Amino acid sequence: MSTILIRNANVITLDPAQPVIMGGDVLIEGEKIAQVGKGIAVPEGTDVLDASGLVATPGLINTHHHLYSSFARGFAAPGEPARDFVEILQKLWWKLDLALDEEGVRYSALVALVEAIKTGCTTLIDHHASPSCTDGSLDIMEETIRQAGLSGCLCYETSDRNVVGDGVAENTRFLKKCQASGDDQVTALFGLHAQMTLGDETMAAVAAACRELGAGVHVHVAEGTADEEDCLQKYGMRIVQRLHKYGLTGKKSIFVHGIHIDESEMDLIAATGTMMVHNPESNMNNAVGVQKMLQLLGKGILLGLGTDGMTSQMISAARAAHLLQRCHHGDPRLAFVEACQMLLENNATIANRCFKTPRGQLKTGQLADVALFRYAPTTPLEDGRVYGHYLYGLNYAPVHSTIARGRFLMRNYQLLTLDEDAIAARANELARETWGRIQ
Ligand SMILES: [Zn+2]
Repeated sequence: MSTILIRNANVITLDPAQPVIMGGDVLIEGEKIAQVGKGIAVPEGTDVLDASGLVATPGLINTHHHLYSSFARGFAAPGEPARDFVEILQKLWWKLDLALDEEGVRYSALVALVEAIKTGCTTLIDHHASPSCTDGSLDIMEETIRQAGLSGCLCYETSDRNVVGDGVAENTRFLKKCQASGDDQVTALFGLHAQMTLGDETMAAVAAACRELGAGVHVHVAEGTADEEDCLQKYGMRIVQRLHKYGLTGKKSIFVHGIHIDESEMDLIAATGTMMVHNPESNMNNAVGVQKMLQLLGKGILLGLGTDGMTSQMISAARAAHLLQRCHHGDPRLAFVEACQMLLENNATIANRCFKTPRGQLKTGQLADVALFRYAPTTPLEDGRVYGHYLYGLNYAPVHSTIARGRFLMRNYQLLTLDEDAIAARANELARETWGRIQ
């Protein structure tokens, strides 16, 4: 078993028993953290990292990503600019995902995984779409996660928008594969695009598969107003009620966005223990509205933070959540603590429902996921002041090293598992080819 000792770091453990240890050590044995403290003895054969001048924190967690979105950078959809969210889907996303081939799936994922490692993000919950190569696409995603060395919870976004029931077989097959392997590095949920692109026949098939497999769903809910309007018009009920009717609420399911849900839907989400994820940067970009983040938290809903494919940078997502709520409510007292808790506590709780090995704290027995930032605190770094250092310090600090599952993925700014330059070069070619297929 390999052992790593991170020596003399300023350690933010997020463990309430000892939240901050200045000049502390973290001992890693195999995939797990063996000990956290001061002056830990160095076992023979240990790989020692001198972490003077570095801050060690638990690896960050992204609870809603779209790794396939990487080729959107710099892409201008043909025709008039999209005027609303439905047009953004029709003109950009549904064309880009349809244009992806298998190599495009692989390289768009690798691009995003390079960024995740470079920003200290070690666990990702992804929502994938590539309707021209649905079958087997989750295996490609799995391969990239394993190649990078990260942890990933994957799904395919089932939708009737191209072919009725597209994604049902892929999710079912991949869930069975993950359940049979029992492996904890790559796990799965049942992915759904959104209720507005899912007819009753497909919903019934999803419900049957989820019941049989004991799986939760990962679905966009009321991201734009059109989703609720569609549901009311076609089915005479609201979105969360329709999902609940099919048995898709519950502690294993993730409902993303929820911007336009009403109070009855919030209460149903709270009562069923369904998880939610807020993606403030994406919501601002798509001009879809402001999630009622504080009200959802007030109802006791487990609400995490994601990037929705915009980026892999998680601390900036927390900053955006905090700033957006203040601006929206016109109240400078709001949302700072909540945004940090969503990033650092709720995302860990969500990940711990999707994976077996606990993560999110630097503490004995937890998964050895550690982000090391080059960051010299210029104000006291101590219990009760940690959040300010995340949002206004670590957010700008370069990540020096990233450890995931007890392995260095980046050390002293050098990526060890992925060849960044080669990935960028091939991604460049593939992005141009992908764009060339879009009219
Ligand atoms: Zn999304």
